[in-house]
Amino acid sequence: MAISHRAAPAPRLVRGAVPHARDAGDAVRFRILAQVRHFGGLRRLLGPQQAAALMAIVVERISAQLPLARVEMVARDIVEIDFESVRDDALSDALGRVRGCCIDAVELDGGPQRFDLLIGAATGTRGGDEVVLVEEAEAALVEARSRRPFAIQPFESGFPHVDSLAAEIDRALDRNEMVLHYQPKVHVRREEITSAEALIRWRHPEHGMVLPGDFIPATEQAQRIDRLTLWALRQAIEDQRRLRAHGHDLRIFINITGQLLADTAFAEAACACIKEAPDAQIGFEVTETSVIRDPEAAIANLQRFDRSGVRVSIDDYGAGLSSLAYLKQLPARELKIDKLFITQLTSSNRDPLIVRSTIDLAHALDLEVVAEGVETHAALALLTVMGCDMVQGYLISRPIPIVELISFLAEERSHRAVEQTRASFTRLAATWKRA
Ligand code: C2E
Ligand code: CA
Ligand code: CA
Repeated sequence: MAISHRAAPAPRLVRGAVPHARDAGDAVRFRILAQVRHFGGLRRLLGPQQAAALMAIVVERISAQLPLARVEMVARDIVEIDFESVRDDALSDALGRVRGCCIDAVELDGGPQRFDLLIGAATGTRGGDEVVLVEEAEAALVEARSRRPFAIQPFESGFPHVDSLAAEIDRALDRNEMVLHYQPKVHVRREEITSAEALIRWRHPEHGMVLPGDFIPATEQAQRIDRLTLWALRQAIEDQRRLRAHGHDLRIFINITGQLLADTAFAEAACACIKEAPDAQIGFEVTETSVIRDPEAAIANLQRFDRSGVRVSIDDYGAGLSSLAYLKQLPARELKIDKLFITQLTSSNRDPLIVRSTIDLAHALDLEVVAEGVETHAALALLTVMGCDMVQGYLISRPIPIVELISFLAEERSHRAVEQTRASFTRLAATWKRA
């Protein structure tokens, strides 16, 4: 198995000295924290109910392995395990058992799903300071968390070398393991879905559904991001035809990573691909930070895209270095405010001010504004008042496969038809009353 970050030993860290020479009966306290890796992504993929079901199974498995321990959830993705033992090998035994809990996939409604655990542990003495024990275990977990998946440490033992990763990506593309999910963008004033963002997923034969955060950086390192992005572009064009056959006319946006923006060979290949499909309506989401890397080449490519009819959207605005100077020079039509500012829009004092001024600034530069990460009605209401043009987020839909998008759009359409009929009945009734 080449790519094995999930199957590779999970980083596990232990804090606190384990007293070796002990008298019998001199028990040691153990506190283990096990966190499901990338739970946010899994929750996005599976939905909150199935993600909660996964956590319940994790707790069940750990409890079965460590029947004498107290096992409970302390956060929506973290399980705390607390026990005492006099055995020297108690901790390594417990860590092995916890680790073993993620060997088999869990059976959920949508089929088997794999998961990985990040583990942090601390040891203390019986009657010792509880707060210190908790803090040490948390610190160990933070350290485990900071050891990123293979994307960042491709040379660590158990992780594939970039060369084998490149081969793995090639194989995945050849075997149709990559898939695009779509998340609709709604035009606020028109109350209409006008476009969708394509988000890539890897249906890995061993690891289940892998989210892009886990393999895009590695794909960049392995010099395969051009191939992957061109695949995504072709797939988006094909899916767009399917949508059109069902009567849905949507522009589809794909994500272009920083590395590719200044790459002229990629830009040429992408434009050629679009030229071959004159009916395609494509958008590219690019970040400002990627323009700043090599502005001259990036701007030239963006102009090339614009001339080919590609709508350029500035992604993750506000998350990185934002420079007005660049923004003015870019042939962009759309600005996406990073979800960082949107998910806390109604609970923060600062974020509404930032969002409001960003919308005004974008409008002054003739850009349409998209808010991503819209999760609540309250956020949608506030964004509408602020004059935001488009919204995208879980409130409307999670990213979904193309077949689901087709039924979602059909339902949307019939819903709108009912609303319109209702509105015209109301108007009609008002006319009758007046007559
Ligand atoms: P992004 O472009 O910022 O994509 C939006 C991410 O936010 C997606 O995560 C999406 O599932 C998530 N999201 C959508 N609505 C909400 C919401 O209401 N609340 C919250 N909290 N999150 C929401 P995903 O699919 O895991 O994608 C992560 C990143 O991977 C993307 O960030 C994008 O930069 C990259 N990516 C995805 N597909 C591709 C691709 O085909 N090519 C390249 N180069 N990068 C891609
Ligand atoms: Ca994006
Ligand atoms: Ca984004």
